[in-house]
Amino acid sequence: MENMKFENLDLSREIKQAIADMGFEEPSPIQAQAIPHILAGKDIIGQAQTGTGKTAAFGIPVLDMVNEKDSSVQAVILCPTRELAIQVAGELGKLAKYKKNVRTLPVYGGQPIDRQIKALKKGVQIVIGTPGRVMDHMNRNTLKLGNVKMMVLDEADEMLDMGFREDIETILQELPEKRQTTFFSATMPKAILNLTKKYQKNPELVKVVRKALTVPNIEQFYIETKSKNKSDVLSRLIDIYNPKLSVIFCNTKRKVDELVSELQSRGYFADALHGDLKQSQRDNVMGKFRNGTIEILVATDVAARGIDVDDVECVFNYDVPQDDEYYVHRIGRTGRAGRAGRAFSFVSGKKEIYKLRDIQKYTKANMKRHDIPSLSDVEEIKTGVFLEKVKNVIEEGHLTNQVNFLEKLMEEYTSLDIAAALLKMSMGDQNKEEIKEDLFEDTGAESGMVRLFINIGRKQNIRPKDILGAIAGETGIPGKLIGTIDIYDGYTFVEVPREHANDVLAVMKNNTIKGKTINIEPANKK
Ligand code: ADP
Ligand code: MG
Repeated sequence: MENMKFENLDLSREIKQAIADMGFEEPSPIQAQAIPHILAGKDIIGQAQTGTGKTAAFGIPVLDMVNEKDSSVQAVILCPTRELAIQVAGELGKLAKYKKNVRTLPVYGGQPIDRQIKALKKGVQIVIGTPGRVMDHMNRNTLKLGNVKMMVLDEADEMLDMGFREDIETILQELPEKRQTTFFSATMPKAILNLTKKYQKNPELVKVVRKALTVPNIEQFYIETKSKNKSDVLSRLIDIYNPKLSVIFCNTKRKVDELVSELQSRGYFADALHGDLKQSQRDNVMGKFRNGTIEILVATDVAARGIDVDDVECVFNYDVPQDDEYYVHRIGRTGRAGRAGRAFSFVSGKKEIYKLRDIQKYTKANMKRHDIPSLSDVEEIKTGVFLEKVKNVIEEGHLTNQVNFLEKLMEEYTSLDIAAALLKMSMGDQNKEEIKEDLFEDTGAESGMVRLFINIGRKQNIRPKDILGAIAGETGIPGKLIGTIDIYDGYTFVEVPREHANDVLAVMKNNTIKGKTINIEPANKK
């Protein structure tokens, strides 16, 4: 692993402060390698798998390189979809928190163009957009590219897959000759190499290679859950498996701190281990963990590198790790010295599912799906543990005083009723709600609507009326209730009213459109 620090990079105070606020502990490998080249003005091709922090790898240097005093467009970032444009704009917005004079603007189809034109007129240094909408603004002359010094193609492989090559070339040709061009991509197909030959100058290939890894032989599970339910799910797993010691990994220092407060307020003996702690504080935390005063250690990857405690029974990946190597290091904290261990990875959203699948494929890890434990699972197990304790107390004896008190109560109630009441009182409030997993949250649709993904598109000659006809025809929902239909090369998004979403999914799943069997699922904003 790289040991580069953000401190060692030649970045402004404002950016460093924003990075610290975001809780990033150290640059990811692609960031450590790409940022210095970009700051030095070089053209680069950045290749690293998904989820490795490519956005900040270009976002950080771009933000530091634009001239705040000049309000013309100086950087253009192209992204394949509106979701990604919004996401990249969001990440840049956070990184630009202390750069009050840098303005960024996402431009994408589906949003009224007038609003974007107005914003562009006010002066924007960094435009983040989909190729189609960027071209649209170029044609209307509402986006002037004469001062552009930097061009970023994010998720370049995906853009080419979606058929944007011509648009991208048109945009690149409109840009000033003297500019920096960077490509970021998870894969490097030939089509990208052709583009780089044509439009980049002596590009540096910055590639984060995967190392061969051996996954320790421990039981590995993954659990699909919404982000907001993660801490509930975590508590249930801890209650059920009742590990003597466990380590929970989060991707940022901030998450570590948040989770520790949450666990402590729920009564768990948990504490944090991350890079903001002084050496003496870390030693203190580790000491307590070793002797069991702390049962749950919540840590970042960096801080946990040296953890060598033998009886860690469970590792939880509260966030999916940023790369394969982290995964292997993390789960290697358990199952040490020949003991049994379990690792649980939480995934929320499609992007994380894909990332975990990728890790699984590459590390050849065998991960089994684990259901979210239900309340009755937790109750049954907790009660079992409690009754075991009751048995021990009975066997130890010395209960004369208590027996005397109970005899009075026995004149009115049976011993079984009394025992049941005592059990209820000591097990606490069991009337908590089941964890609700809403399939249709965050699909990025208009309110009242749900956005669905269908795996066929333009390449299969699909037109809006085919989608409309199929859904209306098969489900009986009036066509006029069906909302926006966005058709891309390989897939389609369609919005349907929320109350009909379940029916549409049930009826359309594995059904055919234009003779092709389709897959349909809720779209994911992430
Ligand atoms: P990619 O574009 O490579 O798929 P992203 O840029 O979307 O990955 O980053 C994935 C996640 O990792 C984001 O939530 C981002 O905020 C987070 N992230 C990026 N850099 C770091 C870092 N140095 N430390 C911790 N988290 C990071
Ligand atoms: Mg990305």
